[in-house]
Amino acid sequence: MALPEQLEAVFIDVGGPIYPDETFVDAVTHALDDIRAEQGQPPADRQQVRAVYDRIRREQNGSFRTALATEVLGDKVLRGELHARTEPYWRHPAGSMYRDVLPLLRTLHGRVRVGVLANQEASVIEALRRDGLGELIDVWGVSAVVGHEKPSRELFDWSLAEAGTSADRAVHIGNRLDNDVRPAKALGLSTVWVLRGDAPDAPTAQQRAEADLVVDNLDGLADRLLGARQ
Ligand SMILES: [Mg+2]
Repeated sequence: MALPEQLEAVFIDVGGPIYPDETFVDAVTHALDDIRAEQGQPPADRQQVRAVYDRIRREQNGSFRTALATEVLGDKVLRGELHARTEPYWRHPAGSMYRDVLPLLRTLHGRVRVGVLANQEASVIEALRRDGLGELIDVWGVSAVVGHEKPSRELFDWSLAEAGTSADRAVHIGNRLDNDVRPAKALGLSTVWVLRGDAPDAPTAQQRAEADLVVDNLDGLADRLLGARQ
């Protein structure tokens, strides 16, 4: 599938495309330490956490939190607990937004509907407003607010309905194959894979072929998306 000629909506993931994923890795590591302390265990081994993260990034198929619950906490069932305990630590600090985000959204704004479509806590809305994106975003597809998480189709369906368009006229920009590219593609959206954060350092040709467009950053992306329109 190519980029839509009648583009009406562009959705963008938050962790990776807008803010660095390292903020999440730090938050989840703090939460691991807290749970391990309650278990009478020393803090999580940073090298082990990093090794799990790098494997999840390489494979692009599976939940980081589930892997950490299983391998670092010793019980997969603790995933929910880990999720809840990560939330208070997970804030996107002022000044951490990637510099190529504002130019992209400013160019798209008013020409197509722009939405965030992300597995994030509600506090992300405050961060995005603080960083000047409030006026540029039409659709707030934030999982903690909508009540559905990627990769399930509900968050995509909800966002498309809010944007008042159909999948064949929409693009999703994200940095994971399992949570972004595959579910969006399955519903008929075009996909852009951004290679930063949770994306692998060296994606295989097979992985790259899954998305309609693979980019290292957001520079020039608005023109490429709008340029496909008629
Ligand atoms: Mg992401």
